[in-house]
Amino acid sequence: MPRIGAQRELKFALESYWSGKSNADALQAVAASLRASNWQRQKSLGVTVIPSNDFSLYDHVLDISAMVGAVPQIYGSTGGEVPLDTYFAMARGNANVPAMEMTKWFDTNYHYIVPQFRAEQKFSLSSTKPIDEYREAKALGYQTRPVLLGPVTYLKLGKGEDGAFDTLTLLDRLLPVYMEVLNRLAAEGAEWVQIDEPCLVLDLDQAARDALRKTYATFAQAVPQLKIMLATYFGDLRENLAPALALPVAGLHLDLVRGSAQLDRLVDEAPRDRVLSLGVIDGRNVWRAHLSDILKPLHRFVAQRGAESIQIAPSCSLLHVPVDLNLETDIDPELKSWLAFARQKMGELVALGKALGRGRDTVEEAITASDVALKARKASLKVHDAAVSDRASGVTSDMTQRRSPFGQRRKLQHAALNLPEFPTTTIGSFPQTSEVRKARADNNKGAKSDSDYLGFLKAETESAIRWQEEIGLDVLVHGEFERNDMVQYFGEQLSGFAFTKHGWVQSYGSRYVRPPIIFGDVSRPKPMTVGWSSFAQSLTKKLVKGMLTGPVTMLQWSFVRDDVPRADVCRQIALALRDEVRDLEAAGIRIIQIDEPAIREGLPLQRADWQNYLAWAVDAFKLACCGVRDTTQIHTHMCYSEFNDIIDSIGAMDADVISIETSRSKMELLDAFTNYHYPNEIGPGVYDIHSPRVPTVEEMVALLEKAAERLPADQIWVNPDCGLKTRSWKEVHYALVNMVLAANRMRTKFAKRAVASE
Ligand code: GLN
Ligand code: ZN
Repeated sequence: MPRIGAQRELKFALESYWSGKSNADALQAVAASLRASNWQRQKSLGVTVIPSNDFSLYDHVLDISAMVGAVPQIYGSTGGEVPLDTYFAMARGNANVPAMEMTKWFDTNYHYIVPQFRAEQKFSLSSTKPIDEYREAKALGYQTRPVLLGPVTYLKLGKGEDGAFDTLTLLDRLLPVYMEVLNRLAAEGAEWVQIDEPCLVLDLDQAARDALRKTYATFAQAVPQLKIMLATYFGDLRENLAPALALPVAGLHLDLVRGSAQLDRLVDEAPRDRVLSLGVIDGRNVWRAHLSDILKPLHRFVAQRGAESIQIAPSCSLLHVPVDLNLETDIDPELKSWLAFARQKMGELVALGKALGRGRDTVEEAITASDVALKARKASLKVHDAAVSDRASGVTSDMTQRRSPFGQRRKLQHAALNLPEFPTTTIGSFPQTSEVRKARADNNKGAKSDSDYLGFLKAETESAIRWQEEIGLDVLVHGEFERNDMVQYFGEQLSGFAFTKHGWVQSYGSRYVRPPIIFGDVSRPKPMTVGWSSFAQSLTKKLVKGMLTGPVTMLQWSFVRDDVPRADVCRQIALALRDEVRDLEAAGIRIIQIDEPAIREGLPLQRADWQNYLAWAVDAFKLACCGVRDTTQIHTHMCYSEFNDIIDSIGAMDADVISIETSRSKMELLDAFTNYHYPNEIGPGVYDIHSPRVPTVEEMVALLEKAAERLPADQIWVNPDCGLKTRSWKEVHYALVNMVLAANRMRTKFAKRAVASE
């Protein structure tokens, strides 16, 4: 179950604790009451297998690091119980130590804390959380199935501290701690434990498969009385299914939403005594299940195998969906009738269980209601817009090509735009100060009139333009003061998107997001950004860059309808953006940036699926931008990406200029572009916007020199790593003044070099 609480109770308790307003007991009391209410709710809904240890104060991967004592030396504690403040220091840093690295959990938008290991790493039981929470539930009268992240996935998600080493080599040292936990759980009375090995949906090499075999053979021998439900999710196991079924465990959980074909394979391949947990309710999306459709194959399956050894489950943890649809009192009632959040999904699960077992007649009504909802959704004009689907199916290949190849466009653009060498620009947003946020909040509440708010935003934009002129940037931006979020701002102006009031989902720690819901065909009733971009351009003779969020990123950061392929939705968004791009061009905007920070994280988990995804993702980007004249310069921006394995596709996007994050890696990320001979222009970020530190001119010159060793000087742009919305104006001011100075120095250096070589 989601841990955050329907009213975000965990967030508020954490923040209060971190700010010193409350103590650890108060925090733990909130945590305990969230756990208790989750157990109580599942029980009262009729869920029969109830998990424990699915709760976490911050992150379930960090919980395992605490459990096994994998605490990096800088956090002090060696051996013994990991104190709460050490746990939080690892999670988020403090005045003395930085936070541990964080990264995305598989293909979700949840971030986990990356375990960090030394080659000589030792493990010892350092947190008894799984045992404590099992006992806590038991004391309240619930027999639970504790959940643990499995040792192989845990090690594979981790990193070696001093130089890379294969983290799986630590397995032998890690297993005894797990065995101690399993033994203690068994001693406390647990009959079952769920061990998650989602690594089984990745491409696994022989070493990983061997590690799995060894792990579960060891557990079977050491704790034979405890039954293990081995859980996998987020995909089809494909060639890992046979090895998974060969492991000596009592049960196997499979994600049948992402991998429905696995059900047929189970008929032939699963040992008769294996308990099978069938993940048929979508844990990654918000749509109400169509119970009849789900039941059809399940009835057949149950007839073949008997009901005793089958469990019905969500496809994965419900961490990835909002808590309770009932809180959405403002959402369109029709749309609402098509949705299910975590609590509603529990109800669906119970209905399915009854329908397959003895309670069939008690759930007729639920099944009929789900049929009715699906039928309505299929027929609804809110969902289907013939004009949009016709247009999308009429896309031709010339619509995804610029008129001329880059070499020609480049000459035309250079002549038309007349920019200096090493042109300077920013990524789009300027500080979203507390005044900006307050003005927006006041306007939303009705405390500030629309015209006052507009006046305020215009003043902010104008002063940003003046300031950029003063410090001497070459390509200006309007500052994005009017935007609440780079996806929401567009979603709110597009048909086919809806927003929730309480649909929070954990992104990391106490940071939650409310993803938009793409429920229908997407179209653009009217221009979205042209007003702001042309207002900004009207204020200055310098070039102002138009700023859009790309189709793949909008898709990636939303809950997407499940009745058509994602590629189709992406294409519809791309068409809406294509119109926006053309309108910007027609309004006199000559440089347009389409941000695609999420393009890499959309990559499927298995390599076999990459090509297909990349092909439609690149096509969508090109569809959005290729409607313009050769002289209009298209930029794109990507952050926190590892580019090596997708560089071909980045090349195929054919943006005239790409800005990327490189400063933290000291320009190493540029290697992919150099090795590939990336022909278009590149703005390798010259400073890290995530840090409040103001970079010096020398630092940035050094980075630019490095870039110039790798790329022809006339291919290089000068810009920060990412948007500046999280920074203060003071930091931004000094950093960008220095950045302009650094660009000037590069120009002088290169002019001198050119003279010398003549
Ligand atoms: N244009 C956006 C900004 O500047 C880009 C944000 C991003 O890359 N995440 O904020
Ligand atoms: Zn960025």
